[in-house]
Amino acid sequence: MDTLALYIHWPFCLSKCPYCDFNSHVAEKIPQGRMAAALRAELAWEAARLGPRRITSIFFGGGTPSLMEPATVAALIADAARLFTLDPGAEITLEANPTSIEAGRFAAYRAAGVNRVSIGVQSFDEAALKFLGRQHSAAQAITALELGAKLFPRISFDLIYARPNQTEQHWRAELQTALSLAADHLSLYQLTIEDGTRFATLYGRGEFALPDDDLAARLYDATAQEAEKFGLAPYEVSNYARPGAESRHNLAYWRYQDYAGIGPGAHGRLLLGDALLATQRHRAPEAWMDLVEKQGHGTTAEESVTAADRAREALLMGLRLTEGVSLPRFSARTGLALNDAIHEPILQACLDEGYLTLTESTLAATTQGRQRLNALLESLLR
Ligand code: SF4
Repeated sequence: MDTLALYIHWPFCLSKCPYCDFNSHVAEKIPQGRMAAALRAELAWEAARLGPRRITSIFFGGGTPSLMEPATVAALIADAARLFTLDPGAEITLEANPTSIEAGRFAAYRAAGVNRVSIGVQSFDEAALKFLGRQHSAAQAITALELGAKLFPRISFDLIYARPNQTEQHWRAELQTALSLAADHLSLYQLTIEDGTRFATLYGRGEFALPDDDLAARLYDATAQEAEKFGLAPYEVSNYARPGAESRHNLAYWRYQDYAGIGPGAHGRLLLGDALLATQRHRAPEAWMDLVEKQGHGTTAEESVTAADRAREALLMGLRLTEGVSLPRFSARTGLALNDAIHEPILQACLDEGYLTLTESTLAATTQGRQRLNALLESLLR
């Protein structure tokens, strides 16, 4: 039976963080009942057209999914098990913010079937948390991590680095705090200025500066060294894990496998017959709920991905992984050989420079290659 990774988007947050360009909204009152009904309806609609699939992972992302009623999480997991075949070892992740209210719900999420929690810590430094507009303190982050580690078999946390005035020494100390709290997975994001965010305005006015590229690269290298001391290895550009603790859900994206996206703004890649469909739901929660209530789903765009675009997407995602792109899987998914998708002289140059490695079965980026992946891909792809 074909496998499926299921993503469920919860679009609400307590406040909007100034760096965030995700599809997240602050509502005076979250329409919990209406959202739950619409998510369940859209899941049922997707299941009806997909037919039998084996679900290997479910990911509740956001937004802040730890603002969902635990009963909604339980109902969606039960629906997924009823409508599809839920793999007995399925990874079921919920993203959470470490405010005390949300941490208090952890036990209920565990009882609902969630077996992995991903906590948006972002920093253990009070001034940095304030700058990042976070609603929690460092102490709350530590409490949430400790509670998460007690309740869930698996736990991950996010940190943001390359913040203004951050030193390498300070960053190493922060990482050591984080890694000593028993997490088996770390996602690390460099602070970047995204269009349309409050930081874009403040940065444009010169109200703060970011570390230069040299310091950002040193902070990135320091991360790998500190993570390694705690037994976590880099398996993707921004992700570190103990062996076997890699995010199976995110691996499905990076390996360019099928995933369904339910909820406002969610994307999917789904093989239906011979077509690989790229699906997208309406981003605005209200409009998305209206659509689902009217027609059973909130799709605003759905198109068949061409072979060339499949190849581009498979390489874009797969070269982020330390394991690289499996060439047999690449050909099966795209219908193309590697040579049909890339400029061979550029590939040879990348191999000679030590940015890529190629065997009969795998194309992979080296550590140096992964650090300049976007530039590499731009010239490599036909
Ligand atoms: S909590 Fe997360 S999704 Fe919500 S605004 Fe902040 S960064 Fe964005």
